[in-house]
Amino acid sequence: VIEIRHLQKSFGGNEVLKDISLDVNKGEVVCIIGSSGSGKSTLLRCINLLEDPTSGEITYHGENVLSSRLSRAEYRTKMGMVFQQFNLFNNLTALGNCTVGPVKVLGRSKEQATETAMKFLELVGMDKYINARPSQLSGGQKQRVAIARALSMEPDALLFDEPTSALDPEMVGEVLKVMKTLAKSGLTMVVVTHEMDFAREVANRVLFMDKGVIVEDDTPDVIFTNPKNERTKEFLKRTL
Ligand code: ATP
Ligand code: MG
Repeated sequence: VIEIRHLQKSFGGNEVLKDISLDVNKGEVVCIIGSSGSGKSTLLRCINLLEDPTSGEITYHGENVLSSRLSRAEYRTKMGMVFQQFNLFNNLTALGNCTVGPVKVLGRSKEQATETAMKFLELVGMDKYINARPSQLSGGQKQRVAIARALSMEPDALLFDEPTSALDPEMVGEVLKVMKTLAKSGLTMVVVTHEMDFAREVANRVLFMDKGVIVEDDTPDVIFTNPKNERTKEFLKRTL
């Protein structure tokens, strides 16, 4: 679905991503691991164009989205995003959070948007809370609404930036369970995570990032049991 070639991103003189090349194929779950500051969030934000890459190419269904007819806005609606801090609209209900984008950005009718949103709120187990505001929900519930909101835009891929890092431990499981269901359903997912068990169990590929570079890109089996790179080994020794 997405081909990234020689992506580079600098903030001022600080080169945060260095010559990143990466393919994400349809239905694949790609997990990104690596220490703090290695550029994981910046990579996700470049993939959905929340940040403008300094140079490089992003090709989506064969079209270079950085310089093509396919408008950036349209491409961005195809890349759903789930944030560590949920980023829900606090003045809207759970249902409202899931319908506002489809109505305002995709031009769906209220009825259509509601029907789609209900389907996804049910999928994440939040259909009992459609009228609740974010302030009335637990962290795990908020994140499940955020996932339903992203799905309601009917994206081609969902990007997750440490979706469970802000949660109390007892709520991590309910969010990971929803993510596993999505992975099994064939959704294309790119997941920045510290949940190594999740990566091991669910990912088709695991990328280890260090200092703005993808150091290793392989199956979870290889990454977790037989990493080839010294830096990957060290990182895993520190975190597992
Ligand atoms: P973490 O695990 O802590 O979330 P990360 O791997 O996601 O780390 P990034 O957030 O991508 O790392 O940051 C990589 C580097 O880019 C850091 O040195 C950070 O200070 C810098 N950086 C990120 N965003 C910006 C920005 N908007 N302006 C300037 N520097 C930035
Ligand atoms: Mg980050």
